Amino acid sequence: MKTRIFTSTMILIACAAALPALAGGPGHAAGPQKAPRAAVTVPTLSTEAAATLLWMREEEKLARDVYVQLYQRWKKPVFSQIATSEQRHFDALGVKIRTFGLTDPALPVAGQFTDPDLQAAYDDLIASGKLSYVQALTVGATIEDMDIRDLQEALEVTTDPALKTTYQNLLEGSKSHLRAFVRLLRALGVEYAPQYMDELLFDAIVGV
Ligand code: ZN
Ligand code: ZN
Repeated sequence: MKTRIFTSTMILIACAAALPALAGGPGHAAGPQKAPRAAVTVPTLSTEAAATLLWMREEEKLARDVYVQLYQRWKKPVFSQIATSEQRHFDALGVKIRTFGLTDPALPVAGQFTDPDLQAAYDDLIASGKLSYVQALTVGATIEDMDIRDLQEALEVTTDPALKTTYQNLLEGSKSHLRAFVRLLRALGVEYAPQYMDELLFDAIVGV
């Protein structure tokens, strides 16, 4: 028991710099057992992994906002169904942003983005997707293509196991969305050519 308290105190001291609220020392009111356990479970992310998480949060918003617009334009269920899934992806990353104590870049208004590159991408995708139903499906495939590439990069820079699991779930969702758009395009005689991921991966996901 003494050894355990000693170890916990050492962990508390080690975490004190990062957590000023817990820096009161081993004699504070919370007791020596509860406080260190809380301290060691506070997750941290590298600067790169944090920036990636913020980017992915807005990218999921982009997907949702584009599909909502394309549903209103074309009234095809594929857009409303996938928009619902993107809302879940967006929410899951919102939870992660809170977990890591980051500032959420997602703006409350549909079609508005903090990141200028995502704002420009959104504007281009909407303009293109409103031209024809085939263009709208191509926009869908393009978003999923980019999303899969970015989620793979996010998995590479992230070491946090729980966040990796979330990204992995989003990746499976994106693969399924890509298959849906590519199959609808094929039914109309149009073959989507991947723009972000490599050809081999694309073939592995959608089939040749
Ligand atoms: Zn998504
Ligand atoms: Zn998707």
